[in-house]
Amino acid sequence: MNKFFGLFDLDKSDPELMRAQFRSFQGHIPLLYGILICNTLAITVTSFNPDLLAKTLVAPIVITGIAMSRAIWWLRQGDSSTLGDDEITSHLKRTCRLAVVLTLTFNVWVIWVYQDADAFSRSNLTFFLALSQVSTVFCLMTLRAAAMLVAAVSTISFALYFSWVEGGQLLPQSLVLCCVCIGMAVVTHSFNRSFAEVVQSRRTLRIRQLETEKLSAENRRIAFTDALSGLPNRRELLDRLDRLDRQEVLAQDSLAIVFIDLDGFKLVNDEHGHHAGDELIRIVCHRLREQCPEHATLARVGGDEFAVLLEADGTIENAHAIALELAHRLLKQMALPVLVDRHVLQISGSVGIASNMDNGVNSRELLRRADLAMYHAKTEGKGQVAIYSDALDEGRLRRIEIEGQIGAGLEANEFDVVYQPIVDAVSGKIVATEALLRWPRRAEGELAPDEFIQVAEATGQIHPLGLFVLERACREIRDMGGLDLSVNVSPAQFRHPGFEQQVLKVMEKTGFPPERLQLEMTESYLLTNPGMAIKAINSLKTAGISLALDDFGTGFTSIHYLKSYGFTHIKLDKSLLKDLKPDNKEKMLVAGAITLARALDMSVIAEGVEHEVQARILRDLGCHEMQGFLFGRPVPLAEFRSLLELATDNRQGAPLLHSVG
Ligand code: C2E
Ligand code: CA
Ligand code: CA
Repeated sequence: MNKFFGLFDLDKSDPELMRAQFRSFQGHIPLLYGILICNTLAITVTSFNPDLLAKTLVAPIVITGIAMSRAIWWLRQGDSSTLGDDEITSHLKRTCRLAVVLTLTFNVWVIWVYQDADAFSRSNLTFFLALSQVSTVFCLMTLRAAAMLVAAVSTISFALYFSWVEGGQLLPQSLVLCCVCIGMAVVTHSFNRSFAEVVQSRRTLRIRQLETEKLSAENRRIAFTDALSGLPNRRELLDRLDRLDRQEVLAQDSLAIVFIDLDGFKLVNDEHGHHAGDELIRIVCHRLREQCPEHATLARVGGDEFAVLLEADGTIENAHAIALELAHRLLKQMALPVLVDRHVLQISGSVGIASNMDNGVNSRELLRRADLAMYHAKTEGKGQVAIYSDALDEGRLRRIEIEGQIGAGLEANEFDVVYQPIVDAVSGKIVATEALLRWPRRAEGELAPDEFIQVAEATGQIHPLGLFVLERACREIRDMGGLDLSVNVSPAQFRHPGFEQQVLKVMEKTGFPPERLQLEMTESYLLTNPGMAIKAINSLKTAGISLALDDFGTGFTSIHYLKSYGFTHIKLDKSLLKDLKPDNKEKMLVAGAITLARALDMSVIAEGVEHEVQARILRDLGCHEMQGFLFGRPVPLAEFRSLLELATDNRQGAPLLHSVG
């Protein structure tokens, strides 16, 4: 029963449904009132009686007036989206009430007119009344409560009156109208249900669409953002660059890219774990961001690589100059110590700059150039800024060419090892030899080791090359009784986790006694990774191998600091000896280095000794061993062997190096 009465009630549970009803109903309202006014006018015309002005003229004017004012009110309502839910509810409530009142008014008026009408007018009246009821219910179809109320009120009043009037002659018509009304009520009910379903499914669809949009926005955000730093990632940067390229031609010097790569980041990861590495990246990102101008795009384009895109706008006019200034600021920031997990980490950055100084270069090319410039800064000693130039590209092509040739050369046995004698400073006796790599059978002509070793270090090919030298030299020098062997190792080799094991394996394979082997390395590796360097040095020393610091005097490290690494020897760089003369500044410098090294129980080897005067000074200063063209150039094994034999023979007579004594 409740359910039945509920059909006549306004369903207020779903504001969105009410709004949809309101909107649909709003469209039907002028039609509804139009039909009502037409019917009223038709009744007035057919039943007009000058003696009954009140019911045949005044009453229809009042009804028409009310209908017109309501129709105008509705037409004025305009867009329903500006109305609140409460307003919509109250409009619909009022509509339901008014529908009942108007229906009753219209019915009462028709019945009133009916009483004095002739037979013809009466049939007209019943026709118009029925017509009005049916059309009103139709127009109110979307608003179930109103449609039901109108159907009920009109049917009941019609049926009651017309089954009673004229001795029940109109009973069949009343019954037919009742049936029609019940039919309309059923149709209205099911139409309303479908209408509600449509509204509901539209809502579901909209919610899904919103969810999908949200999801795809989130996906986009994830795809274009670096999760660790929250900065735009490489994809986002490339996207941005492509968008720039699609714009009209960019003005000269309006675009610059600063490419940054952290030096020694991999070592932080290896030594302190990935957690520390992540923390370091976060801190560095924060510092970089603080330095970047507001309109610049800072992106993390790789594990330890960042790029800043500077675009011309109101504030940037000369992108190149701004980039250069920014690059130096960024370098300073990166060089500041970082506290991670109670460790103070010291890193640096290498920076490359490229700008569109020459017209026509697209922005992706600019990124490549900045990257290349950064690479150059890195190979030139890290912690520097390099600016792109065409020469860098030529150098890169040459490096790529050499890189391919090194691999093939190793396979084709194009490399050789040469030996340079190292003599005892006092006796002049050859006590050791330094193994040096050569590439004599390179198809395109021999290359200096400085040049191809730099490439091999950058590409990782230094590992097979280094092992080749070590193994070859150990095999060849093994049987030269008592002679020590010195082999160069690159920082890149030292960084390799299995390096110590590889060295020991070669010792085992070749039967070379580790006590006779000395490894020479430059200090660049120590500075970037002290912890790992000390560990590696200690384990090599435990095996009996000694360690020499090569090229001493070219870096900034103090001898005392080096001692803590466990070096047994230092090799004075040849540049220190170049102007060595009795009583000059260079002599004081060398003297200081030798004295300090001796005090710390380290042996000093001087390299690049070319003149007797240098040798004499060095010996007087207490240098232990010497190496240089004065005693012998690096030569192939056979020649070195004869040199050694000659020296042994000579020693039985006069010393080979009599000039030193
Ligand atoms: P380095 O380790 O400082 O080697 C000494 C360099 O000085 C050698 O150059 C040698 O020929 C040169 N030299 C020796 N005595 C004199 C002299 O009296 N005057 C002058 N002006 N130079 C002298 P080289 O053989 O051209 O090697 C250059 C560099 O290439 C080496 O410098 C070393 O850093 C690297 N290298 C050579 N062989 C190897 C290797 O097997 N492994 C690695 N990692 N690096 C190597
Ligand atoms: Ca060396
Ligand atoms: Ca050297």
